[in-house]
Amino acid sequence: MSVIVGIDLGTTNSLIGAMEAGFPVLIADADGVRLTPSVVHFPKGGGPVVGRAASRMRAVEPADTIYSVKRFIGRRAGEEAGAVDYRLAGGRGEPVRVVARGRTFSPEEVSAFVLQKLRADAEGALGVPMTRAVITVPAYFNDAQRSATKRAGELAGLVVERIVNEPTAAALAYGLDRLKDRARIAVYDLGGGTFDISILELNKGVFQVLATNGDTRLGGDDIDAAIVGHLAEIAGGGLDAGAMARLREAAIAAKHALSTDGEARIELPFFTMGKSFSHVLTRVELETLARPIVERTRAHCRRVLADSQLQPRELDEVILVGGQTRMPLVRAMVAEIFGREANTSQNPDEAVAIGATIQAGILSGAVQNVVLLDVTPLSLGIETFGGLMNVIIPRNSTIPLKRGELFTNAVTGQRSMLIRVLQGERELVKDNWDIGRFELEFEPAPKGQARVGVQFEIDANGILHVLARDTKTGAEKVVKMASAVDVSDEAVEKMLEESLEHAFEDMNERAFTEAKLKAEEMLPAVRTALEQAGADLDDDERAMIAARVADVEAALGEGGAPRLKKAVAALDAATQRLAAILVENAMRQGRGRGGS
Ligand code: AMP
Repeated sequence: MSVIVGIDLGTTNSLIGAMEAGFPVLIADADGVRLTPSVVHFPKGGGPVVGRAASRMRAVEPADTIYSVKRFIGRRAGEEAGAVDYRLAGGRGEPVRVVARGRTFSPEEVSAFVLQKLRADAEGALGVPMTRAVITVPAYFNDAQRSATKRAGELAGLVVERIVNEPTAAALAYGLDRLKDRARIAVYDLGGGTFDISILELNKGVFQVLATNGDTRLGGDDIDAAIVGHLAEIAGGGLDAGAMARLREAAIAAKHALSTDGEARIELPFFTMGKSFSHVLTRVELETLARPIVERTRAHCRRVLADSQLQPRELDEVILVGGQTRMPLVRAMVAEIFGREANTSQNPDEAVAIGATIQAGILSGAVQNVVLLDVTPLSLGIETFGGLMNVIIPRNSTIPLKRGELFTNAVTGQRSMLIRVLQGERELVKDNWDIGRFELEFEPAPKGQARVGVQFEIDANGILHVLARDTKTGAEKVVKMASAVDVSDEAVEKMLEESLEHAFEDMNERAFTEAKLKAEEMLPAVRTALEQAGADLDDDERAMIAARVADVEAALGEGGAPRLKKAVAALDAATQRLAAILVENAMRQGRGRGGS
């Protein structure tokens, strides 16, 4: 059985672990330290320096020291976040490259240097070659970012067996020894550069991801930048890159100290023009700077709760992951959002790496009885009348699953129904993705009387099977669609953004279309009723109905859901007596027939 290592390739720090005697163990480097800063320094001569030594060079040679490169991995120029002390290259729309010592590198090449160091440390400690790895990424990483991370592993000479989401890895770290048989946990992960919030369910050794949300550009780095900005202002501005890097180092040290202390003294001798810089940063000052940043996590937490249809009190645990969650302000906000104190029994810096190691153990056979399930990233449904999407499986549903609904015919005598399978969050068919279609023949029936059952089934591999059946004859068709879960995260994010952006007009469109369908059904019915029983009404009533009909027709032409709905309701009210007369006539005729 060959060893597979688990690696948490973090924005700020990275860790590596392996299963030893059935336990996940994180591996220390030659200095006995497990946390390796994800920093690479390119010196004047010789190869790159990685980790703590590189981190120290940030203050000395900031332009040649690459940190937080995870923010750029798999990204294109123009979409990357935040300023850094080194130069970025690459034309707009091209993959981002970083510049150090006059050379350019891809973010995955820089990450590969970090991975190489971790790999060498592990080989040194365990005395065997390490060629296979599990690497974690934030849940919100898109395909490009995941592929680039995989490439980084390959460049470091590793076969990447699995890319695992960080919250899932963290839950594994807690799950094996701490949770009861069945539990729902929220994983709140605020690291250096990314924020993730996920709700997972652990059920007899099976993990299910109920919902996940987050922001790939939110983390401790933003708090650092806010502190640096504040300190630079105190220093009087006009600072060069070297001074800014020193300020940053001091800011981070103060931030860490303020997680336990009430104040932190910052002393920078010979700061600018031989002058020293000195400031006492208080926790209150820090919290004023950090609060708006930490506050940004709240909306994501709300969204994930809504998506998983859970109230905070239905959660069994809230787990903290990521070094930034050591900040008391973060813990207080998490407690406020979820109405409970978070579980801090695991080291928040190490939970993801421990989980990655457990996942590596599962793959190599060293750990058994844990299965990871997935969720549908976007809603699935079919087209119904008026070009609207009818959702059958909502987004964030746990797979495997089966769900069905009954549909009917729009037109009398219709012989077949087109089943058009859609994916997306928009109300109108045209804004969603068409992922397949087929026809089901059925027995002709009057409008609205045929019954066609449509069932969606997503198997454990994420493949969608669509079944349509004429309930009268039992005739059915099953069609296998493409994977329902294998959608790039980028596309999912875009779809979600668009659905939020257009939520209002989408809702109006749906309301208008529904009212229009109703109007189109009513107008001919009223016309027929007038032909059959109009003579039984007085002139005023007929004129009133004619006016209401004209109003509905006008509203149809104008668009606007509220106006049309009102017109349809008014026509409905105006024709109540006409409808009653029709029913009465029909009954009279029925009695007449019955008596003959
Ligand atoms: P990670 O990406 O999980 O390694 O998280 C690193 C982030 O956590 C960085 O922004 C660190 O500055 C921050 N961090 C680490 N330790 C502490 C601490 N004791 N207090 C506050 N923030 C911390």
